[in-house]
Amino acid sequence: MKTGYAFKDCKVIYGDAGRGVDTHMTILIHENGLIQEIGKASEVAIPSHYQAIELEGKYVMPGLINAHVHLFADGKPFTLSASEGLLDFAFHHILNTRLGRSVLKKRMKRNALTALHSGVTTMRSVGEFFYTDVQLRDEIKANQFVGPNLLVSGYFLSVTGGHGAPYLALVGDSPWEARRNVRINVKNGVDLIKICVTGGVTDAKMVGEAGRLQMTEEEVAAICEEAHKIGIHVAAHVESTEGVRIALKGGVDTIEHGAEMDEEIISLYQNNSRALKGYTALIPTLQAAYPSAKLDLSLTKVRETVKENSRLVYDSMLKGVRQAVEHNIKIGVGTDAAMPYVTHYDLWRELDHLMRQTKLNSRQIIERATKTNAEILGIDHLTGSIDIGKQADLIVLEQSPLDNIQALADVAMVMVRGNLIQTPSVTRIRAVDELLDSVWGDRE
Ligand SMILES: [Zn+2]
Repeated sequence: MKTGYAFKDCKVIYGDAGRGVDTHMTILIHENGLIQEIGKASEVAIPSHYQAIELEGKYVMPGLINAHVHLFADGKPFTLSASEGLLDFAFHHILNTRLGRSVLKKRMKRNALTALHSGVTTMRSVGEFFYTDVQLRDEIKANQFVGPNLLVSGYFLSVTGGHGAPYLALVGDSPWEARRNVRINVKNGVDLIKICVTGGVTDAKMVGEAGRLQMTEEEVAAICEEAHKIGIHVAAHVESTEGVRIALKGGVDTIEHGAEMDEEIISLYQNNSRALKGYTALIPTLQAAYPSAKLDLSLTKVRETVKENSRLVYDSMLKGVRQAVEHNIKIGVGTDAAMPYVTHYDLWRELDHLMRQTKLNSRQIIERATKTNAEILGIDHLTGSIDIGKQADLIVLEQSPLDNIQALADVAMVMVRGNLIQTPSVTRIRAVDELLDSVWGDRE
């Protein structure tokens, strides 16, 4: 049986860069999981059956939204350098078995809970095996366990030999095959479509391959038309300028990762008549490329090809992010958690990284990880800010993230849809933390 809560005497950060911090506030959370009232502590009457949580001096802000994750892995370094035959064997004889699928599902659930306990109350998962993401979303919605809000894409849509193909992707080689693959994912219950317009770092075999074009504009356009017809978004994995151009012209709603822009690309982001909302947003994932790109091979143990591809992708992505800030292109926040050195619990590192590398201040960065992400994902009527009637997706912090963004690394409490996690606990991956911490201070 759910109960109502009163967060008493807290400082409220609304998730809106234009609003200041209000002090000595009380927030009432109805047992239906929605925010019921926000007001001065001295003026809000707390119903007697509500559980009062004393938060004197602590900060309450909207739960974080991670717009780009994969649940299938936890961020420990991995390599896909095995031969095709070995990968094929591993897929068919280990992963795609009853036991393999059940192990995978447990791992995905654990990763989702790790994220939640670290303050991420909403995750958009963009590429998983066997529609296990759809199952987990449905179990959370049916209250079988308290998990984060999940938006899920199921399999990638890719081309023959393309990024993620064949195991993580539905393969199509024409606009009609691509449409059919949208329909297959929709039939299986996805919330959005994820496509791979270019190659990717994880499975590129030679330098330069990560950004190579794989999908045609006709295929992208067919996918977008099919998805937009039923009101769902298309997210495009893109790691080069030419890839971004094709994806934008085809009408995608978000560019994942991104690359350096030219005039045509800038204006297509801002005004894209084929995109569902009339513009396309950028979800950079700097933290996914940074360690492999910039750290010494002896530390990261990645292959030279991976390092070189990561460097190309990172440098171009960073230019793209700076251009997006300069030209007022809508930017969200994602991490690509699951990739090597990207865990599910350190979204703050991406925020810190963005702050150091762009002119965005902490207030604007927090807005992007909450309100703006919700708008980009089309869920701002439900979550992403502290407003009456929105879901009570909240985090409590001892320190102000506006003074130091790293305050988000240590969340005191988490609430999702009105369910309170009073003592969140995150199992960290020491080797990953140590490597990243060792270079945190001296990054360029
Ligand atoms: Zn990804």
